[in-house]
Amino acid sequence: MDLEKNRVYHGFTLREERRIREINSLGRIFFHEKSGARLLHFENKDDNKVFSVTFRTPPHDSSGIPHILEHSVLCGSRKFPSKEPFVELVKGSLNTFLNAFTFPDKTMYPVASKNLKDFFNLIDVYLDAVLYPNIYEYPEIFMQEGWHHEINSAQEPIQYKGVVYNEMKGVFSSPESVLFRKIPELLFPDTCYGVESGGDPDIIPKLTREAFLDFHKKYYHPSNSYFYAYGDVDILDLLGFLNESYLKDYDRLEVDSRILIQEPFSRSVEAKTHYPISADESEKEKTYLSSSFVVGRATDRDLYFSFDVLEYLLLETPAAPLKKALLDAEIGKDVFGQFESSILQPVFSIVVKNSDSDKAEPFKTVVRETLQRLVREGIDKKLIEASINIKEFRLREADFRGFPKGLVYCIQSMDSWLYDSDPFTHLEYEPALQEIKKALAHRYLESLIERFILNNPHCAHVIVEPQKGLTEKKEREIEEELFRYKENLSRFDVEELIKQTEGLKKRQMSPDPPESLLAIPLLTLNDIDPKAERLPQEVREEGSHKILFHPLFTNRIAYIDLFFDIQVPQDDLPYCALLSQILGKVSTEHYHYSELANEINIHTGGISFSPEIFGDKEDDSLFYPKFMVRTKSLVTKLPELGRLLSEIIARTLFHEKKRLKEIIREAKSRMEMSIYQNGHMIASSRLLSYFSPIGYFTESLSGLSFYRFIADLERTLDQRQEVLISKLQDTARILFRYGKLTFSVTAEESDYGAFLRCIPEILESLGMDESSPVRYRFAPKGKNEGLLTPGKVQYVAQGYNFKKLGYGYSGTLQVLQSIASMDYLWNRVRVQGGAYGSFARFSRNGNMYFCSYRDPNLQKTLGVYKKAGKYLRSFSADTREMTKYIIGTISKLDAPLTPSMKGEVAAQRYFSNITQEDVQRTREEVLDTGSKKITECADMVEDVMSQHHFCVIGSEPVLRENSTLFDELISVFNW
Ligand SMILES: [Zn+2]
Repeated sequence: MDLEKNRVYHGFTLREERRIREINSLGRIFFHEKSGARLLHFENKDDNKVFSVTFRTPPHDSSGIPHILEHSVLCGSRKFPSKEPFVELVKGSLNTFLNAFTFPDKTMYPVASKNLKDFFNLIDVYLDAVLYPNIYEYPEIFMQEGWHHEINSAQEPIQYKGVVYNEMKGVFSSPESVLFRKIPELLFPDTCYGVESGGDPDIIPKLTREAFLDFHKKYYHPSNSYFYAYGDVDILDLLGFLNESYLKDYDRLEVDSRILIQEPFSRSVEAKTHYPISADESEKEKTYLSSSFVVGRATDRDLYFSFDVLEYLLLETPAAPLKKALLDAEIGKDVFGQFESSILQPVFSIVVKNSDSDKAEPFKTVVRETLQRLVREGIDKKLIEASINIKEFRLREADFRGFPKGLVYCIQSMDSWLYDSDPFTHLEYEPALQEIKKALAHRYLESLIERFILNNPHCAHVIVEPQKGLTEKKEREIEEELFRYKENLSRFDVEELIKQTEGLKKRQMSPDPPESLLAIPLLTLNDIDPKAERLPQEVREEGSHKILFHPLFTNRIAYIDLFFDIQVPQDDLPYCALLSQILGKVSTEHYHYSELANEINIHTGGISFSPEIFGDKEDDSLFYPKFMVRTKSLVTKLPELGRLLSEIIARTLFHEKKRLKEIIREAKSRMEMSIYQNGHMIASSRLLSYFSPIGYFTESLSGLSFYRFIADLERTLDQRQEVLISKLQDTARILFRYGKLTFSVTAEESDYGAFLRCIPEILESLGMDESSPVRYRFAPKGKNEGLLTPGKVQYVAQGYNFKKLGYGYSGTLQVLQSIASMDYLWNRVRVQGGAYGSFARFSRNGNMYFCSYRDPNLQKTLGVYKKAGKYLRSFSADTREMTKYIIGTISKLDAPLTPSMKGEVAAQRYFSNITQEDVQRTREEVLDTGSKKITECADMVEDVMSQHHFCVIGSEPVLRENSTLFDELISVFNW
């Protein structure tokens, strides 16, 4: 579309127009004269359209106002007065993304959809929510989403409750969160970055509703807003809509939302803080050491990009020299870096995990001396080339998996736009790429290290130590605080609080009036394509090998996956998982491991390894374990990819004991971080392992069982090294065999020949011997475990396999999954229970479960699961309501896939024997689901729950209090 600069379109002046070659878009900057709203637009052919509105919301304390507001505005508004329009949209729109984010200095409300009508509906609901929320009318919204005193009867103690309150308690359970909160607190004592925009659970209860409302009045105004639109939408239609429906009603205002600059320090600062561990855990080797540096401004393109590369180069790649020096000096067992660039003054951090406080000084010395040496001697040019190359590959590939591309670009634009700079700064990355390539010939990166790390006094050294019983101590303090609070209340005040609690519960329990629900725009089933997308896949034979070929436009990148049948002895299965972490990170016959890492980064977009278990679509006892090698590279680089793969497969050396130790320690440490963040995955995977063969083997390769294998190995490594080395050699020999390989290739047809030319080299590296297939045994164990962590919240999983109970699978269960997740569990476990989330899963193979996420409760949540059958039996929904659930379900089935993902999903279906007819049938069953079919599922859900299989991971004191529920209590980090 042709627009003229400086002309006004629907109240918006076009101020700037520029082709942004890097993202294949026409970029435009508009300004809405009357309201003062800014708008950034990217016109292109992407049908996954994105819209977002962002407000600049620098907080002035840690009471969590921006975060509570982010939740609260989505709880009803002028035109859409139901209690949770957001939830209605999740249930019943074709959105491809719908969420909201609180950043340290801004709050973002993005939506995305491929359907134009849906796209405008989503924008309408979101804008009404942020500009006209019902928070002024209903004090219950603040109580529910923020915090409140809860008390049901005069005898009971008072408790703090609230969604954000509880969410942040969960966040601060993890030591990394404690660390990354403390760092900005020290570095930015005078600006908004010194406080926690998400809210500190200790401070949240100090927040008043008045301050909360004032914050909305001040900052949620178009003059303080940043609108964003992306994709194949008619921009004039959108401008007209924004102007007519919202912006014309606002007058420009001066909103002071400036983000102050922290004056640089003249000398570095230090601090020590604590995170909780269990009473019986040892404190040894559990300390975090860190140094963090303020690096210029986010608006400086070259610096922003260079430090991203530098962080990778120094601390991430297996060739990273600073990481290597810290591990060699045995400062700790895991090292990582972080470059936080979504704030005005970016921060570069170096972190060592699994250390002790007495290593704090040696840590600083090693960092300083290593960096001084790099500056003096120069960084290895191969390492620089490799690090730039891998970053460049990712920029050009722009494959953000499930995340819409337009949203990634929105977030990147904000990194300059929010700070009154050109929003295109970071998207026009070519100049930065050219600039950093100077580092290949000059001392460019070395000078950055000197200036921003070695000679930079604006830095903080933070130590985070473990502390036994900190969770219990905190809980006791809160209990006492609330006890004293109650003591000082009159009987009348207590009665008032009880009434307030009742009022809140009443509002939560009462259904929305039909007219409020009707206000939410809804598509019809006619807007849905009755045909499921057919993913391209041809099964080709090359010699004795099958090749699953997915002809797709990939911009000359080839995605090649190798699947080797796993036939290692059952007891050695964990070594497959371990091997996947080791390959590519240890030396081979021709390369030291750091050279190998450079070769991989220079010639490919990455090579990774993982064990994958594909289950039969029907039967959870039939499964096909594969060892997957996942690769990507430019088509022109395929010969190098083939050479590197054969080097790793056939010529990996497993005898570097020190290196193996480093990798095992890092693997253990990374699993620990993921246990804190993904408790729901640990709990549900463990649950399935009780009764499902595929669940059992999956858990042993990636769940808590594998963590225990790794932890055990790490502890006894010195005695077991020889055994380990021979196990790894044997496992690799058994895995990489000629007759056991299937390829999956995603590329253009014209590039298929280039792929064929690179396979002989790979095949030559494989063993030719045949072995007899291994039969894997499985014995169900009917135990319910309580997995103890020092965290403050629970993850509660319960389920079973409904096929074992005689029930069948159909698409109806996908709709049931939406209803159970978004209605039944949402209302009871999240809204009334105060958990951050909860969800249901129903699989084709019969496995089903409910699971809660960051849940303050345990028994109460199990009670909710138990009553699900009863709820379903009395479930009734009119046609509109059912249409809503069906559309929501279809939107999940139709989640957009990038070309690489299409290839992956097609291959997965192939291995699981899922045909296009199966996919189509499921879709038809989804479209055909009526409320009667849902009520018919009541028996099944009740039957599953009455099998009484559950697994809970969570707070040690809470689990111990409920110990009679469990057959076994297991300490996750100490046994
Ligand atoms: Zn939140």
